[in-house]
Amino acid sequence: MSRQPVVVIVGRPNVGKSTLFNRLTRSRRALVHDQPGVTRDRIIADAERPGGGRVTVVDTGGLLLEDEDQYVPLIRSQAEEAIRGADAVVFLLDGESGPIPEDRDIANYLRALGVPVVPVVNKADRSGVELGAPEFNALGLGEPVLISAEHGRGTDELWEALDGHLGVSQVADEQPDRADEVQVAIIGRPNVGKSSLLNRLVGDERALVSEIAGTTRDAVDCLIERGGQRYLIVDTAGIRKGRLLKENVDHVSVVQARHSIERADVVVLVLDAEAGVREMDATIAGLADKAGRGVVIAVNKWDLAAERGLKQRSFTESVRDDIKFISWAPLVFVSARTGMGIAALLKKADAVGVSCRQRVTTGQVNRVLGKAAREHAPKAAKGGAPVSILYGAQVGIAPPTFAISISHPVDLHFSYKRFLENRIRAAFGFEGAPIVIKVRARRH
Ligand code: GDP
Repeated sequence: MSRQPVVVIVGRPNVGKSTLFNRLTRSRRALVHDQPGVTRDRIIADAERPGGGRVTVVDTGGLLLEDEDQYVPLIRSQAEEAIRGADAVVFLLDGESGPIPEDRDIANYLRALGVPVVPVVNKADRSGVELGAPEFNALGLGEPVLISAEHGRGTDELWEALDGHLGVSQVADEQPDRADEVQVAIIGRPNVGKSSLLNRLVGDERALVSEIAGTTRDAVDCLIERGGQRYLIVDTAGIRKGRLLKENVDHVSVVQARHSIERADVVVLVLDAEAGVREMDATIAGLADKAGRGVVIAVNKWDLAAERGLKQRSFTESVRDDIKFISWAPLVFVSARTGMGIAALLKKADAVGVSCRQRVTTGQVNRVLGKAAREHAPKAAKGGAPVSILYGAQVGIAPPTFAISISHPVDLHFSYKRFLENRIRAAFGFEGAPIVIKVRARRH
């Protein structure tokens, strides 16, 4: 089996290395090395090549300029090791500022190492970047590829430029899609205790594997390990920042939630047991549901609620009444203050991650649908000819997606779709996973 090719991203700070890294890898399965120092600035993840196959992408930070960082020598030598081992080095430049002396230094350095370099000019969407960015030719590395890492423009051209160095895609060698760690987003309105919960999760020295920082200020992820399972808590910078900006209006938490949900497999929706369920909780839950992510509901501050004699059962009922559309999401009662329920919460997040990726066979699906249809004949949304279910199959995961084929082109009544969903859940579980049902009519 041939080795997976390696692409290393190099450039001075703030040119957009981590944005490009996230763009290429979609931040899936971020892995970190366990040497001290390296964990902070070097990020490794797989990226899918558009033509199939995978490459390993390494984001190096602090290569030449970050003097204030006490780990510079170590990072520098680690980065150099990565660069020497690369099949291609993406040398990222800033189109807005044009080439500056530090860029020339890096260009010379890369030339001296004799590695294949693809010059790439980022922020090409900004004004002042001319076609072909001729001013960068002076670096003597050839004509750069123009991209906008932020907007995802130019990535096809970048892949094309890389193709020459990476060889033919080794689709056959592809590793099975294995989730190394569960990517978890902690979301909720202000003051429900997200930041306290995060501290409880990562504050325990034994649990924290590493805090993974990009070179820019955007996302900080925390990789923790509990019970042999790894969890990547995404966007923790946003949660901590929220704590500093206490007056922040609600929409900030919605924006932050939206952002973190994008990057997560499983969302932990934090509720405040003391305050009860608010409209804003439902709004935020709606974002997770819409995005098709797994959801665990963490009812926090249960220490206070328990003191008042509140019962878990009645709180559960009020959650189910107020946030009906995620009735499939399990509830875990926790206290960030005392640590109660925290281990159970992580276990549940893991289980929900597994549910989201669960696959059932077409035979199994058809047995369940057949039985359901025999007990309750399918109903169309608006009268019309009687309709029957021909067959169904699971056509996707994360979220689990089912295609159901019916005899006539009518809309199935939503309550009937709900009934089928419930039957699928009763048969296969899928706890914490949203289920998508697509109905299509047989072509006549
Ligand atoms: P965030 O805005 O969602 O990040 O909320 P914070 O983590 O800043 O918490 C808001 C307030 O609730 C703080 O005063 C915390 O000390 C308090 N708090 C958070 N979790 C708990 C808990 O489990 N029990 C109790 N009693 N207080 C909590």
